[in-house]
Amino acid sequence: MHLFNIRLGHACNSSSTHSIVILPNPDERKDIAPDGWSGDTSYNWENFRLFNKEAKLGYLAYLLNNDAAGMLTREEVDQLLEIVGMNGVEIAENVDHQSVWPMPKNFRGQGYNFDFLKELAAFFAREDVGIYGGHDNLYDEANPHKSREEMRADLFDGNPGSQMLFRGGERVRRDTDGKDTWWTLYSPGTGNKVRMTFENPLADAPGIDPKSSQRPELVDMKITGYCPFAKDCGWCYMDSNTEGQHARLYDITGMLDALAEESVFEVALGGGETTMHPDFIQILRHGHENGITMNFTTKNFAHFTSKKYAPWRAEVAKCTGAIAFSVNNRKDFERFKKMMEAEPFGEINHWDDNTSAPQITMQCIPAVCPTALFEEMLEYCTENWVRLTLLGFKRVGRGKEYTEPGNLRWMKTVEKFTNGEPYRLNNLLAVDTVMAADCKAEFDKLGVDPVWYHLDEGAFSCYIDATTMRLGASSFTDDSQMVQLEKYADDRRQEILDAYGQMQSKLTLS
Ligand code: SF4
Repeated sequence: MHLFNIRLGHACNSSSTHSIVILPNPDERKDIAPDGWSGDTSYNWENFRLFNKEAKLGYLAYLLNNDAAGMLTREEVDQLLEIVGMNGVEIAENVDHQSVWPMPKNFRGQGYNFDFLKELAAFFAREDVGIYGGHDNLYDEANPHKSREEMRADLFDGNPGSQMLFRGGERVRRDTDGKDTWWTLYSPGTGNKVRMTFENPLADAPGIDPKSSQRPELVDMKITGYCPFAKDCGWCYMDSNTEGQHARLYDITGMLDALAEESVFEVALGGGETTMHPDFIQILRHGHENGITMNFTTKNFAHFTSKKYAPWRAEVAKCTGAIAFSVNNRKDFERFKKMMEAEPFGEINHWDDNTSAPQITMQCIPAVCPTALFEEMLEYCTENWVRLTLLGFKRVGRGKEYTEPGNLRWMKTVEKFTNGEPYRLNNLLAVDTVMAADCKAEFDKLGVDPVWYHLDEGAFSCYIDATTMRLGASSFTDDSQMVQLEKYADDRRQEILDAYGQMQSKLTLS
């Protein structure tokens, strides 16, 4: 198995820690029964190792049966096991609750993806694949588990990338670049996303290395050019102001339908000030009801603090994955902190409404943010577990005229802040593609694995300006490279796919 890319999304106790491992050396593949084992198939806290094929498949069958509980009868689970090539497998008696994963399902959570489960079962059945069990409270000197380096490849252990592969990957779709295929796993709850294949797990090269996909995983959609905060942002690359136009609801909903048909996981609404679109809630609801994770950017703190907007916030909470607040100056930062203290989604009745509060994140353009304030923001984010996305400065729109000190200046501040302890940031810092491209040389010097970032706009995502009905690689794509969409299209889904392909044909991918 190879992971090609990890994106920690709109973003973990003391208990069992089971890991799926690959052992290259056949002499080391020995089954070790759980301590005090009495012959049953309960895999809990005790140290154990499974290489026996029936036992491993029994473990996997437990995960499947556990996931299907309440949805499928035991007979139906047996039918499912047969479909995915696990006929007659005896379901293990127990897997500790801290080590069970949700089994990925198709878009909207509708049904298992049988092809994925077949490949997963075949992977578990491999001789070199084993299941290591234990817990994080006690080191067993008699049966020490091997280190990640010794095992050559760790899969589902405690590191953030592998842990989230299944624990957060509740949705799965097969993707292709026209030549190769791979799996993309996505978690609506966390926004985490992983591209992977079960092929060639121990080869030095995976055999395939996807650089783009034939349909987007994510679409940035501009729904308005209107923004009442223009006076704060002399650099606004979208050139937004109070003259900006709103996109038609008809166009937006039509495109959301088309994107849902293609299992596009997320749509990030942008502007302008998104919340000022007259049909904002209807747009969120439409995307959400079609299975898309709807996110948006805003600077409209008033809507998140005022009592008057409590019903509005309740609607936002039902339909939104994550909200990014633009914070670039002292005034915005103070408003953000006040808003967080007031708990904007505190009114939600999680039990009655089955609604979880949207993730609240900050986004900042370090090039325009004073260094001392940026340092304070880092402190605040780590103390309060708030994710901070750093946006590269874009020299388009009003950004053309603006003199900025460069995109690299934040790195020194982060270096000083972490002071040799990178984990101080708790995976809370993210960068956009512009920032990643500008910082690539520095990332290489620091040994940052490229699996953690993206350099190419348009490779797995696209931008749609719904106010002018144009599609491009990103929100800062040159006008001449944008592909015009029809005002009224017979087949919006196909039109978007064609425009996406046309846009990608002009890209030079890194
Ligand atoms: S940067 Fe954002 S908040 Fe500022 S003018 Fe542009 S759209 Fe409005």
